[in-house]
Amino acid sequence: MTTLTPAVFVGHGNPMNALEHNRYTEAWSRFGASVSPRAVLVVSAHWYVNITAVTAMARPRTIHDFYGFPPELFAVDYPAPGDPEIAARVSEVVKPAYVGLDADSWGIDHGTWSVLVHMFPRADVPVLQLSVNAQMSFDEHLALGARLHQLRTEGVLIVGSGNVVHNLRLLDWRAPGVGEDWAHRFDDAAREVMTHDPSGLGAMGGHPDFARAVPTPDHFLPLAYLAGLAGAADQRAETLVDGYEMGSLSMTAYQLAGATL
Ligand code: ZN
Repeated sequence: MTTLTPAVFVGHGNPMNALEHNRYTEAWSRFGASVSPRAVLVVSAHWYVNITAVTAMARPRTIHDFYGFPPELFAVDYPAPGDPEIAARVSEVVKPAYVGLDADSWGIDHGTWSVLVHMFPRADVPVLQLSVNAQMSFDEHLALGARLHQLRTEGVLIVGSGNVVHNLRLLDWRAPGVGEDWAHRFDDAAREVMTHDPSGLGAMGGHPDFARAVPTPDHFLPLAYLAGLAGAADQRAETLVDGYEMGSLSMTAYQLAGATL
């Protein structure tokens, strides 16, 4: 009998969500309280580099990779341990794809800690990050996500952290809780795919609103990992929470249920 750990994609939105309590952060908290993973592997939009790597240090540092926010946000520390053994396991299960072991360059960035401070507030679950390789095609990200499936059978919670709709240039700070029409159209279409046929997510590249919703791929690509995992397990995603912020961000989060096979 095999137990499959749930998996999740979170729309993390504004870094200030780390300090706030709203219906998004409450959904993340509830999800965290419902699982007890051996470790968390986060595919964060904010480690978007030209190589695929996994953090492999025993004590990852908290990275404050933003500017222009209040001192309270720079003071956040998320002291979760790493897990070098699981990092080695990640590089093993994805073969023949290559994932390098990062001993000292990265750590826990705000795409990860702004969510995990709510999901696992005690910071007592080991955390690893997987980079998003800017050189890879969408299909390659989907395939890499599918290769991570094995980790779900070993008690590892895989988290994608990004945003389905993420256009910072079009942000309207006077429009909290609002999504432009085009943002709704794109997010709804993505939901249709994720809840019916996640492996088909690549077709979203042809959506008429793609260029506005995904002006850069970094925040959208973590969703490809959940889609790949869904395909590997023959599962469909369920919406954990949804909504819009400032016109051009969608906060939709999806989960893949746990299962006993
Ligand atoms: Zn972000």
